[in-house]
Amino acid sequence: MQPTVEPVARLIEEFARLPGIGPKTAQRLTFYLLRMPAEHSRGLAEAILHMKDAVRLCSVCANITDRDPCPICRSETRDRSVICVVEEPLDILALERTREFKGVYHVLHGAISPLENIGPEHLKIHELLRRLQDGTVKEVILATNPNMEGEATAMYLAQLIRPLGIQTSRIARGLPVGGDLEYADEVTLARALEGRRAL
Ligand SMILES: [Zn+2]
Repeated sequence: MQPTVEPVARLIEEFARLPGIGPKTAQRLTFYLLRMPAEHSRGLAEAILHMKDAVRLCSVCANITDRDPCPICRSETRDRSVICVVEEPLDILALERTREFKGVYHVLHGAISPLENIGPEHLKIHELLRRLQDGTVKEVILATNPNMEGEATAMYLAQLIRPLGIQTSRIARGLPVGGDLEYADEVTLARALEGRRAL
C-alpha cells in the first residue's frame, strides 16, 4: 500500500530512518498510531521531545545524563584512579551489568574510522587527556569494541597516554570479534575486563 496522504507518508519516512526499521515496519508502526487514541501518540511524541530536552552529556565523562555530573561521576564509592574508556553510552550499561568494575568511565562517542571520515578530533579524546592531568588516574582501561576501528582507537590512545606515565590496558580477547560491547553477555564482559592486559 502506497500512502498518498502527506502526514502519513512523512511519519513512515521518519520511522524508516531509525536503525533496524525497514519500510514495512515503518508502515506498520504508522498505521498502528493512526488507529490509536490521540493521547497515545501525543505521549510518544512528548517522550521523544522531553528526552531531547532533558538529556545532556556529563561534563566529566561524556556519558548521557539528566543531571550533571552523571550519577557515576558523582558517586562517593567509585574508584577515580581507574578510567574505563568506551565508545558509546550503551557500553557503560553493559559494563555496569557485570558489577565487576568499580572505577569511572569516559565515553568517546565513536571510534576512529578513516572510511567514515571519523578522526581523533571528532571524539572526546581531548576531554579524556584533560582528566589525566592531575595525577589522580593510575590506569586507563581501553574498552573500545573488538573490531578494526576499536583496535585502532585503542592503539592511538595508548600511544597518547603512555608518555604520561599512566598504565594503559586493553580488555581481553574472547569477546566476539567484530561485535559490539553492548551485545556481549555479562560473563564474557566480566572476564574480558578481568583478563585485561597491559599495553
Ligand atoms: Zn559522568
